[in-house]
This record gives sequence, C-alpha cells and structure tokens, in this order.
Amino acid sequence: MSSRFTFNATDAHIIELSKYRQIAFPKNYRKPVQIGIDIGGSLAKVVWYSQNTNSYAATGGRLNFTKFETENIDKCIEFLKEIIKKDNETINLPHRVLKATGGGAHKFNKLLNEELNVIVETEDEMECLITGLNFLVHKIPYEVFTYSESEAEPMVFEEKVIDEEELYPYILVNIGSGVSIIKVTEDGKLERIGGSSLGGGTLWGLLSLLTSAQTFDEMLELSKKGKNENVDMLVGDIYGEDYSKIGLKSSTIASSCGKIFKKKPEERKEFKEEDISRSLLYMISNNLSQIAYLMAQLHQVKRIYFGGCFIRGHPVIMNSLSFGIRFWSKGTIKALFLRHEGYLGALGAFLKHHGNIQEQELLGFSENFTKAERINTTAINAVGLIDIVPKLTYFPLILSDEYHPDTFDLSDPELQKYWIDTFDKNLHKMVDMALSWLHTHFLTNTDNSKSFEDIYRKHLQVLRREPNAYGPLSVRSLLILREQCLHEMGFGDIFEHVKQEEKRTALETLPNLLKKIDALPENEKLSVLIDNVLAGNMFDWGANEVHNMLQKGELNFDSAKIKVKKSEKYFNLNEFRESLELNQYHKAVIFVDNSGADIVLGIIPFARYLLSHNIDVILAANSLPCVNDVTYNDLISIIEQVTSFDKPINDAYNIYGKLMVYETGSGSPCLDLRNVSCDLAEACENVDLVIIEGMGRAMHTNFHAKFICDSLKLAVFKNASVAKTLGGNMYDGICLFEKGEKIIGIAKSKRSNTFNEILEAGRFSFSC
Ligand code: ADP
Repeated sequence: MSSRFTFNATDAHIIELSKYRQIAFPKNYRKPVQIGIDIGGSLAKVVWYSQNTNSYAATGGRLNFTKFETENIDKCIEFLKEIIKKDNETINLPHRVLKATGGGAHKFNKLLNEELNVIVETEDEMECLITGLNFLVHKIPYEVFTYSESEAEPMVFEEKVIDEEELYPYILVNIGSGVSIIKVTEDGKLERIGGSSLGGGTLWGLLSLLTSAQTFDEMLELSKKGKNENVDMLVGDIYGEDYSKIGLKSSTIASSCGKIFKKKPEERKEFKEEDISRSLLYMISNNLSQIAYLMAQLHQVKRIYFGGCFIRGHPVIMNSLSFGIRFWSKGTIKALFLRHEGYLGALGAFLKHHGNIQEQELLGFSENFTKAERINTTAINAVGLIDIVPKLTYFPLILSDEYHPDTFDLSDPELQKYWIDTFDKNLHKMVDMALSWLHTHFLTNTDNSKSFEDIYRKHLQVLRREPNAYGPLSVRSLLILREQCLHEMGFGDIFEHVKQEEKRTALETLPNLLKKIDALPENEKLSVLIDNVLAGNMFDWGANEVHNMLQKGELNFDSAKIKVKKSEKYFNLNEFRESLELNQYHKAVIFVDNSGADIVLGIIPFARYLLSHNIDVILAANSLPCVNDVTYNDLISIIEQVTSFDKPINDAYNIYGKLMVYETGSGSPCLDLRNVSCDLAEACENVDLVIIEGMGRAMHTNFHAKFICDSLKLAVFKNASVAKTLGGNMYDGICLFEKGEKIIGIAKSKRSNTFNEILEAGRFSFSC
C-alpha cells in the first residue's frame, strides 16, 4: 500500500541563472505571467509570476522580484513589455490584467495601459502593504528577524511562522520616500494611524545634495565608514560627561548635525561625506524609531514591523531603529524586520490577482536562496526565491511547540568555519557526481557542473562573511542549499546510477540474508537486525570519509559490520527489546535514509521483523532526490521487487496493507519534523513507535527531539566533529531508545489538505 502526492519531476533540463530574486508556485498547471507593481515616489517595485523550468525543484511557478527608479519608469515598462511578450508566445490572453498600487499606479495608469496593452487595476496601497506583509509573516519561514548590534548574535530569526492569534495587533512602519504607519487589529482591519514626511526620500535627497555619491548604495556605503560624532552634537559635548540621572550616555546624540553651525562657513568643507552620511542616516532612523515607539505605546501594540526599501538590510539603520524601540519600551516592544521588506506593496498587489486568500492555505512556500542576491554591499541579509510545494505540516507526535530540528547551534564562529570549510573542501565530489550524471544522460555540455560548483562556492563565501544571510546557519541549511543549487542547475538525481548498482547487489544478497535471519533463535534476531541497520547505514555517499571508501570499493556489507562499533553512551537496545516483548506497539513509522544496502539489507529485514510482531509499519522516504538517499519512487520499486520473492513482505504490502510507504515531502538529508507531508502526518496520528535512521535525520537533526510515543534513533557517527560534540567515537553506531512522554494534548498536529486538493484549488484559483 502506498500514498503519494504526485510531483511532476520529469524532463529535467538545464536553465540559465537569472539576476532576479524569485518566489515559486506549484507545478503541473501552466499559468500566465501575472504582475503586481508598486510605483512609489522613489522606486517602482515589480513582482511577477513565472513558470519554473526546473522540474526537479518540484515547483511549477515562481514569484520574481525586481525594481526600477520611478524616474526611469520607461525602463520598467520596457522590462514588463518583454515578459508579457514572451508569455504571449505560449498563452493567448485576450485581456491581461496588471495589478498596480502606489501613487504611480494612478499617475502612470494611462501610460501602462497604452504601452503594455493591459487592463490596469489599481489597488489600495495600504491594503496591499498589509496583504504582502501578512503573506510573508504567515507563509515564509525565517522571513522575520530582530536585529541588535550589541549582542553576539545580531540577527535573531523568528523561529516559526506565527499564527493569527499571536500576530494581531501590530503596526507596520513602512519607510519609503515618506513614511506610513499602519495599525492592523485583525485580518483585513487596518488603519493608517500616522506618518512622517521625513523618510527615505529625505535621506536620499539630502545626501545627493551633500555628498558626491551617485547612487543610494554608495551613500549607504559611505555611511558605514562614517563617524557621526564629527557632525552631531552629543550629550558629552554639552555636559562633558554622561547625563546619567536621566539615562543618557555621553555618546547619545543631543542634536543631529549640531556641530556644523559652530564652524565658520569656510571651515564647513572640512566635514567628511561619510560622517555627514552617517549623521543623516541616524537622524532619520532615530526620529522614526521614536515615532514608532510612541505609536505603539498609544495603540497598545507589542509588535512593530519595519518595511520599505529604506531599510535595505543595512545594519546601521536596523540597529538604530531597534535600539530606539528597545530603549524606550524597556524591551517590551519588538522591532521586527523582514527579508522582502521592500516588496510588501507589490507582493500585495500581486496577491490581489488571486482575490481569494484561502488558496494560500492550501500551499506550502519555501524560500530558496540559490539565486539570492545580497540586496547591496552593506546588507547583512539576502532575499531568496520561495518555492511553492504542497502544504507541509507538523509531525503529529512531536512532544511540544519547542521542537527545533537542528541539533547543533552554529552560532559559534569556529563551528561555522568548520562546516563551511567542510562543504567547500568536498564540493568537488559532488561536482564529479554531477559530471557523471551528465555523462549518463548523454549531455555533453558540462558547463552546468561548473555553474553548480561556482554558485555553491559563491554562496559559501557569502556565508563566511554573513553566516545568517540566508536565515540561521545550520548543517541542514548548508545541505539544503547544496541540493537546491544542483537542482537549479538542472541536475536530477545525480546518484541514480550509484543507487541502481547498489540496489541491484543488495537485492541479490537479500534472500539469503532473510533466510539466515529467519533461522536465528528468536532471542538473537533483534540484535542482528539492528547491527545490520547500522552496517547498512554506513553506505552513505553524503559522509565524506565514507564517500572515499565507497568510491574506492573498500566497503562491503560484511566489512561495514566489522567497522561499526556499538556506542557506549547511546546504545540501549535491551530497553527497546523489553518494550517490544510487552507487545506495546501497533504501528511504527521508520524515517529511512540511504538507498542500497541501507534500505534493502538493513531496514527492510528490520521492518519485516516488526511486521512479524503484528506491528504495522510505515516507511517514510524523501519525495525528492538528495545524495544517495532513497526516494519514495526508489522505495516503491525496491519493495515491489522484494514482494516478488518474499511472502511476508508481499502479504504485508499487497494483501493486508500492513506495510505502507509514504513520502515525507522533503528533499533533504536532514529531517525537519515541522514540515512533513500532510498525508504522512495523517497516517502517523495513531503511530506508537517512531524510528529515525541516519546521521542527517537522527544526529544533525532530531537528536534531542522528544515524542509523545516511544522512539528509536539509529545512526552511525560518520563525522569526527559530530562524534566529538555528542560524546561518541567515529563509526560508533547508536541505538537510542527513549520512552515517550504521553502528555495528552501537547502534540501539535496541523493536518491540512492533500496534494490533490491543493492542485484542485491551484487549478481553480490561478486561472485568470
Ligand atoms: P516608495 O514607494 O516611496 O518609492 P520605497 O519603499 O521604494 O518607497 O523606498 C524608497 C526609498 O528607499 C528611497 O527614498 C531611498 O531612501 C531608499 N532606497 C533604497 N534603495 C534605493 C535605490 N537603489 N535607489 C534609490 N533609493 C533607494
């Protein structure tokens, strides 16, 4: 018995890198390009939907982001003409609608209509800002973060996408050319409660007048180097020391630009451009943080989102805004920043194409940084594309809301360096695999393997400078990024030939192995089976040390069994055996790992043993390929072959439905139990034994995960650093059994729609 939401992952082909940041929408239905545009006083921001040509990313469409100076609206129109023209080649649309917001939507309405031959529908600016913001806050993981210069960890990301109840009320301070402050008390209920004419346009204007910088980015760059105390009058300049009675440090700005008037006109040229830039930047930001705080205070709001292109991921701006809010509110109000800060209005306008926001409830959105660009040289964060996947949900057996997938916190610079170096050093191995994949697919142009290498290495360089540029850095995020880069470059399952070969040999060995196991005395079976799982788990091309052995043909199942030792610290098989003998389990889920010997000689015999104890077994495998992990498709084919010669497996799978295969919804060697396929989550609701296998799933992630039912973690230390950190030795096998904490009502299940329902909804609501 099997369950699957169908991704169309055929027809892989090579695509070009583009310079735009993107978000993606699901595959399987061809949609016309749709555009949302927000034309402000300074910038025209464009968000448009396009079909994603990368079939292995399991997505079908994409939201793209770009912007133009409003002064150059003609360039923006030319750009839009191009994308519409290209779309017209494949889709004949008699009436194309352009959703537009911002002042320019009115001012340039006629021009857009005539030049682009579209119906321009103008949308309310404030409403669009809030629609865009709510979408990002609810749907995009790690979209929102707080910033503080003084702490060891400057960017702290909101760990989870927050629920409606926690969100309202909030205010949005949108800093564009001018500033709007909007209060939102519930979905769709908003009010512009204030604003300021001193905004981004003011800074841009004054700096254009007072510095030689040609672009806004050059101005930000200048401000980074400047010392505002050379221009501003500080408390210390007036008092000669702190004014501690009222909490003012001597370095606090008493008067922005207050030192300028003291100089004679002929001396004023001595003020440096960078100092002036910094002073003015503080002037605007400090003023806004004060206004924002007062507004939040007045309206009893604890969350303040800052949006608009003025912020641009610039640390000085973010620090001065959040410092002010923290200082005045004594830490009770949060200043929150957004990755897609400048695109709220355009995104909101885009979403108005779809009217019915309900459809978003049916989709999953995942950020993809493959083509992410740093917003500018001073920005500490980057904006990624967001792939749309079928909706994912919480695994129902997680113990609490505090669940966090990553075992290691990579906030320590040494650990960051170690992992980035490790991925960098071993990149060539993946490139070799990618090259041989091209070869086996008779693709002679090898440019894409070079592009893959270049792009991933470029990302690693960015992460060396700004480890949290793409969200919190973790081994999981580095692995996901690598897979995304591969798929983005058009590569499919680059381990497919290795997997085929390993599957073939393992399946040849299996009948004999099963015979031997069946012949064992009952009390010896479990221990041998667990040994086999651990030996099988050595066949892991994703672990560098093992990769070398496998490549040289130095590892076989027997030598792996000798190599793997039992961990002294994490091996309590007897406790598991006792529970098993008490017939405590009725249904188990096994999150499986590698293809070949791992699944065939390790997991299948183990699952067969559980079945023989009258335990239903779900095998949960990745939806998408990554390294040599067994995918759902691989697993179905393996099980079908096993059914041809093994009666217990055949009966359980084909006749009684006691052996089931589900896909996880993931394409990563790690396992984030906050995001599993809805089908799997539903099937696991009555599971009483969770088994997680492999280094990525049970060590890099989930090592500390607690469940409401009993759990078993099976893995081998195949990385020296992981072994050292967790107190093990290289090639120690762990068999970590933990009793469940049966606290009724704490586990979090967010069951939602099946993929078919999602596609139906997508089909319906994305048509024009
Ligand atoms: P608006 O909708 O009023 O144009 P935005 O949110 O687009 O507002 O923000 C515009 C402001 O962002 C500018 O006034 C300037 O301060 C800042 N800005 C950021 N990036 C740029 C850029 N590349 N060119 C000009 N201004 C920029």
